[in-house]
Amino acid sequence: MAGITAARISEVLSGVRTGLFIGGEWVAGAGTLAVEDPSTGEVLAEVADASPAQGLLALDAAVAAQKDWAATDPRVRGEILRKAFELLTQRAEDFALLMTLEMGKPLPEARGEVTYGAEFFRWFSEEAVRIAGRYATAPSGGTRLLTMKQPVGPVFAITPWNFPLAMGTRKIGPALAAGCTIVVKPAELTPLTTLALVDLLTEAGLPAGVVNVVTTSKAAALSEPIIRDPRLRKITFTGSTPVGRTLIEQSAQQVLKVSMELGGNAPFVVFEDANLDRAVDGAILAKMRNIGEACTAANRFIVHESVAQEFGARLAQRMGDMVVGRGIEDDVQVGPLINAAAVQKVSSLVADAVDHGAKVLTGGRTVGDRGYFYAPTVLTEVPRTAGMFSQEIFGPVAPITTFATDAEGIELANDTEFGLVAYAFTESLTRALTVAERLETGMVGINQGIVSNPAAPFGGVKASGIGREGGLEGIEEYLETKYVGIAL
Ligand code: NAD
Repeated sequence: MAGITAARISEVLSGVRTGLFIGGEWVAGAGTLAVEDPSTGEVLAEVADASPAQGLLALDAAVAAQKDWAATDPRVRGEILRKAFELLTQRAEDFALLMTLEMGKPLPEARGEVTYGAEFFRWFSEEAVRIAGRYATAPSGGTRLLTMKQPVGPVFAITPWNFPLAMGTRKIGPALAAGCTIVVKPAELTPLTTLALVDLLTEAGLPAGVVNVVTTSKAAALSEPIIRDPRLRKITFTGSTPVGRTLIEQSAQQVLKVSMELGGNAPFVVFEDANLDRAVDGAILAKMRNIGEACTAANRFIVHESVAQEFGARLAQRMGDMVVGRGIEDDVQVGPLINAAAVQKVSSLVADAVDHGAKVLTGGRTVGDRGYFYAPTVLTEVPRTAGMFSQEIFGPVAPITTFATDAEGIELANDTEFGLVAYAFTESLTRALTVAERLETGMVGINQGIVSNPAAPFGGVKASGIGREGGLEGIEEYLETKYVGIAL
């Protein structure tokens, strides 16, 4: 663990305020909640555990701040976000280490997430001053049609543990730019990054009550009263599809504006004319980024039968060579899974695939005797009936199946309730465009294993969600369009 000393770890952990942040004040919770390091199982910190009543106090604060924040000049809102981007960039090493400690990803990947996460603040600092409506003449003449954009109002954001920083900034950035106040409930497994982030936003000049953070072990009990409160106007959620469905049901009562970034089951399709070097590089990125714990992770490798053997052998070689270990150690490429339940889930999906006839090319086992490590695994001849083809694996396991015709490959790719992202590798422009049009997903990566980009609209179709984050579309989720008809 060359560069990262115990003293450095305690320096970063002791810099994090561990209370609830409500109305610009740090307050104690109703109890405390332990945060674990998944690479050792040791407790890193105790943070405030909010009661449902404290969740409503956070909403009170967001409601109280809404009018003034909406009336704040766009340039001022943008400058606060810009300052927050700069502070995050300056403190990239602290944020990266914090994420590696609480979530497990290797430090180089955590640094990448700081860059990606900070960019949402820069992008939306630029969007804050470009919010505009339009003015038109009605087709029949006479009446003029004016549209104006207004902030939707107080927002409730619930974020997952797998990207502790970026999943927060992707919501906070556009909310603040649009003039919305927000209550953020980070995942109970990784709350430290969000707590450090709200401290940084305050330093960047954010007024009290505009962003409020509640950490809790009682996600459902705290969230439901907030969602059912008539003062709330929007919910934005990133997490699993089952929880997303529950939140959509709850939000129906107040007819909330809803953004849902839910689960995925990404197909990674390799056509017979693919450049296999690019395909294997893309596969490593699409599968192994974030230890396979990404909604965008390639979940099913659908490979043309003429190249499947070579692709499988090359992928198994590369994945088998990857260094597994604590994310703070030098050269580590694969950190631990988030907890024991995640290891159990991955292990049982692999056992189920093998029972269905799959062959293990590499991996297929846990690693070490402490922490939650699982070896990078490649499986071939995985039949369609294996559980891992219909469920998110959320771990470092690459199952390969084959196809003979393009139509069959596309049919296999679309054979899922999910529709977040798909990857396709081909050297033919015609095939690439045809396939991109036919894939039933919100995003497609052509000859690349990563699509996330703050300047692009991220989101899914089918059971993968509603709405888009980032790009020109991202801010629209936090705005209402008001139409004014004017008789001339
Ligand atoms: P999760 O749904 O278990 O939890 C997500 C968040 O919801 C956490 O903050 C949790 O505390 C909270 N939560 C859980 N139950 C709740 C309830 N009943 N009411 C209110 N809040 C509740 O998901 P997770 O395990 O943290 O994250 C992994 C999932 O997130 C995967 O399915 C992954 O695909 C998805 N994800 C999607 C995207 C995307 O952009 N589409 C990005 C990252 C993760």
